[in-house]
Amino acid sequence: MDQPDEKDWYHGLSFLARGAREMTRRYAGRSPVVAAKPDPSQREEITVELPDGPTVVELRRATRARRMTLRVPPGGAAPIVTVPVRAPISNAERFVKGQAPWLAARLAERSPIVPLAVGEVIPLRGEAHEIRATGRVRGTVAAESTDEGHILWVPGAPEHIGRRLATWLKAEARADLEAAVAIHAAVVGKRPSMLKVKDTRAQWGSCSPSGVLSFSWRLVLAPPLVLNYVAAHEVAHLIELNHSAAFWALNAKLDPNHEAARLWLKTHGRMLHAIGGA
Ligand SMILES: [Zn+2]
Repeated sequence: MDQPDEKDWYHGLSFLARGAREMTRRYAGRSPVVAAKPDPSQREEITVELPDGPTVVELRRATRARRMTLRVPPGGAAPIVTVPVRAPISNAERFVKGQAPWLAARLAERSPIVPLAVGEVIPLRGEAHEIRATGRVRGTVAAESTDEGHILWVPGAPEHIGRRLATWLKAEARADLEAAVAIHAAVVGKRPSMLKVKDTRAQWGSCSPSGVLSFSWRLVLAPPLVLNYVAAHEVAHLIELNHSAAFWALNAKLDPNHEAARLWLKTHGRMLHAIGGA
């Protein structure tokens, strides 16, 4: 559990699992074991006093849990403490309260949600773009570079701006991914059977045994070297459906910048999921 799960990597680039691990605290002592069953009438949440005010922590009882675990999910969801089925709530409370400074720090660094709305600034191909309305009903989304910076002009009624921009971003992601995949596929001499662009949360890209490559549309938000790395990584899986030395050698041949791209994803990947109301 503390080691990266090879299975995740086999099917793609697992980042959420790693991120969740970084944001996780485990109970360091022995498993609390008590004979009594939990009282079903008790409230299964804990309130902890943090510098920003009282914070509710959701309590989950897991049959398989042997230790208490506190984690902060990405986005706006409440922190979760997972405890063994029969652990008394007082033990969980003591554990959570002992972790208050850690919890406050994790909540403070958690990315805020950035909606796709007029006035917001989102990255596109790694560059900050301000979302503005054209004020016209018809037309297409257009990116413009000005002296004041990059602007994304979005047509349509205000209530449709988010949806129109999301549709456009996904189409841009597909165009970039198709171009990158075509370049790498030509080098390895094998094309994917299909290319899918999805809103995947757990993986940036994946390769199925039948040669279907799937990618997260959010890659278009990242610097181009990141999208290129994920495209090269999945194309390399068309030849080597594993993470053997041969796979990494092929990956490095296709994409000499892969180390920089992996580091970028590890450092900033989570931020991409806050865009568009993750
Ligand atoms: Zn892989």
